[in-house]
Amino acid sequence: MEVNDTKTLISAADIQDKVAELAGQVDRDYAGKNPLLLCVLKGAVVFLADFMRRLTVPVEIDFIAVSSYGAATRSSGVVRILKDLETSIDGRHILIVEDIIDTGLTLKYLAENIRSRGPASVKIVTLLDKPDRREVEIEPDYCGFRIPDKFVVGYGLDFNERYRQLPQVSILTEGRDS
Ligand code: 5GP
Repeated sequence: MEVNDTKTLISAADIQDKVAELAGQVDRDYAGKNPLLLCVLKGAVVFLADFMRRLTVPVEIDFIAVSSYGAATRSSGVVRILKDLETSIDGRHILIVEDIIDTGLTLKYLAENIRSRGPASVKIVTLLDKPDRREVEIEPDYCGFRIPDKFVVGYGLDFNERYRQLPQVSILTEGRDS
């Protein structure tokens, strides 16, 4: 795999430090509870894997896959659920685990969808946030890094399904349109 078309934005070591810090906050806030970590596929799997191993509160995990309907319906913020949860979330404390919040459309729809299923609580943890791009009002409860309006890859994030395996978060400097 070519890696010379990317420039490191957040090093692997800095990510690991931040993941431990976030897990510490979540451990404190969920003491005595048994949250369900709801991982948004596919980008958040790497973050989930590291994050859950730093937690000491007992957790369960489940996965949801969503897809935007595309440009035509983008403004509506309606997304399609490609793979739904396998767990009943009625009465559960849900922590949505996201890789990145950009416009916020996907997460706003998802959070509302999850809230409508009767959980005890819903919070959001995201590794990355691009607040300059926000189109709807949604704020993560826990955020790793606020980043500028650049397209990033690595640590689970892809471009055309590539680069997910990079241990760091990088800016794609060339080849994005190829
Ligand atoms: P939103 O609905 O917030 O605009 O979109 C969030 C989704 O867009 C993320 O879960 C991710 O899949 C994708 N996305 C947004 N920004 C980036 C980025 O900089 N890099 C990558 N690889 N995906 C992004």
